[in-house]
Amino acid sequence: MGAGLIGAETASAALALGAEITLIDPVNPPLVPAVGPALARRLHRMHGERGIRVLTGFPAAVTAEGQEHCITLADGSAVHADLVLAGIGAVPETGLAAAAGLDTDNGILVDGHQRTSHPKIYAVGDAARVRLPDGTLLRRAEHWEHARNTGATAAAALLGQELPVHGAPWFWSDRHGVRVEGAGSMAGAGLMVIREKDGLPAAAFLLDEYGRMAGCAAIDGGFTVRAARRIIDRRIPVDPTLLADPAVDLRKLAR
Ligand SMILES: Cc1cc2nc3c(=O)[nH]c(=O)nc-3n(C[C@H](O)[C@H](O)[C@H](O)COP(=O)(O)OP(=O)(O)OC[C@H]3O[C@@H](n4cnc5c(N)ncnc54)[C@H](O)[C@@H]3O)c2cc1C
Repeated sequence: MGAGLIGAETASAALALGAEITLIDPVNPPLVPAVGPALARRLHRMHGERGIRVLTGFPAAVTAEGQEHCITLADGSAVHADLVLAGIGAVPETGLAAAAGLDTDNGILVDGHQRTSHPKIYAVGDAARVRLPDGTLLRRAEHWEHARNTGATAAAALLGQELPVHGAPWFWSDRHGVRVEGAGSMAGAGLMVIREKDGLPAAAFLLDEYGRMAGCAAIDGGFTVRAARRIIDRRIPVDPTLLADPAVDLRKLAR
């Protein structure tokens, strides 16, 4: 259940080990906020092409039936399985923080220094959620590099040092022998530019209202994402036609 990063990675790994898999997600395709619609469609299609049974539906209940489990979908249909994996999102454990009187709201609320509502308590990683000075709550990041970066920020803040500057957020994920990488944010409004390879969408770039790159995602495009991240961090203006042209080396645009 769940065809996001965790569900897709596990399905692909289990398939390689010989398992028979049904992948269920209420959204088709999943991961649009992370990689944009074109790459999300291509990635989701890969499951079916490799022999995974893909269902779009909302799992309403999981019940044990002898040695089996039965997943009942909201439309009344049922899927039987001897093993069920729920990859449907993580819930931050805020119990300890709340018991200490810290402000929490789907995460332990922190400022730009990773400081909680108590001046001597800091929080980092998946469980921390930034609250801007105007009260806006940002989306929690659940990525390895973010956990490391926020740790470095908290350490600098505790030591009274200048805060480190981190680049645009970056993530990677592997499935079916391909690597998905993304940098920045692909979730906002703007112009989505697609770069194709062999007739398939290979990279997607989101340009904001000022024509600056807000996010990038790519399939087997590590160099592209690295260059895009430089473009995002340095706020270099980019021409969408050059971005879409696979003959243009993105590293040149990042200089
Ligand atoms: C299956 C899976 C695959 C992933 N793949 C990727 C990936 O490919 N790329 C990527 O960037 N990210 C990936 N992630 C996300 C990444 O693992 C997390 O973003 C990262 O581990 C967050 O680090 P953290 O230190 O905030 O939390 P965690 O790594 O979860 O560490 C928190 C630690 O705190 C401990 N703890 C909890 N409560 C208490 C307590 N009260 N007292 C003391 N200790 C406590 C926990 O036991 C745990 O050891 C994946 C996550 C999962 C679950």
